[in-house]
Amino acid sequence: MDYNKKIQKAAQIIKRAKGLYCLTGAGISTESGIPDFRSPKTGLWEKIDPIKESTVQVLYNNPARFYKIAFPRYASFRNAKPNNGHKALVELESKGILRGIITQNIDNLHYKAGSRKVWEVHGNTRKSYCVGCYVEYPFDEIITQLEKGIEVPQCKKCSEMIRPDIVLFGDSMPDDYYQAVAEIREKCDILLVVGSSLQVQPVSTLPGMVSSLIIINLQPTPYDYRAEVVIREKAGKALMDILTYL
Ligand code: NAD
Ligand code: ZN
Repeated sequence: MDYNKKIQKAAQIIKRAKGLYCLTGAGISTESGIPDFRSPKTGLWEKIDPIKESTVQVLYNNPARFYKIAFPRYASFRNAKPNNGHKALVELESKGILRGIITQNIDNLHYKAGSRKVWEVHGNTRKSYCVGCYVEYPFDEIITQLEKGIEVPQCKKCSEMIRPDIVLFGDSMPDDYYQAVAEIREKCDILLVVGSSLQVQPVSTLPGMVSSLIIINLQPTPYDYRAEVVIREKAGKALMDILTYL
């Protein structure tokens, strides 16, 4: 099936949806200049090993190393801007077609684009908190302290470490994840998956809970075989093209 036929087919599926939700991953943000983990060559994965560096073990056992090696990648997302992919999803929601977005991204870009219903299942880079007394700080508090030369950011109340409110390898999943699972189980008949390799657990189990899938991803995913349509195109273009048929 050629590209245009696939776009039309995706639009038809979306039109018959009773509960359309979108699951996004790092691939929707590469067009905003944020490298993903698993694209060949450019993926963050090839430069540092996130499984080794972005873990709770490194954060708690060697926090200075976490703040030196893994953290600057998270801080570098701060000035990124939403692209056509994020914007198309805002449009789909405001047309009353899309019920919500479940994102693995921590880059705040759905939020910045103006999407209203977003479950950030790996946290976000707007907030941080103290691991001792759980008081919340803005994410930028960490950056401010690091810029002052402090190696491990400290809580002003109890002097324990402040950490970003993101899910590292080894962390438990936040409330947003469990809310998203409940929502998907109860209300979702069609899941639009955009820019995710679907290799990170437990989010990778979500497509298995839904009867009908549309996948937009540059590389193959383990769920391609059961998708109604698989579109191998950049997310920004594919989503904008689908919108023209809705
Ligand atoms: P992933 O890196 O495993 O997979 C990204 C997929 O997107 C790849 O299969 C790639 O082919 C595809 N892709 C890349 N650019 C694309 C484009 N323009 N259009 C369509 N597809 C494109 O990402 P994942 O599945 O989200 O898992 C990675 C984990 O890393 C997540 O847990 C996420 O929290 C974290 N992460 C987040 C960010 C971010 O917030 N932007 C960036 C890197 C990693
Ligand atoms: Zn504290």
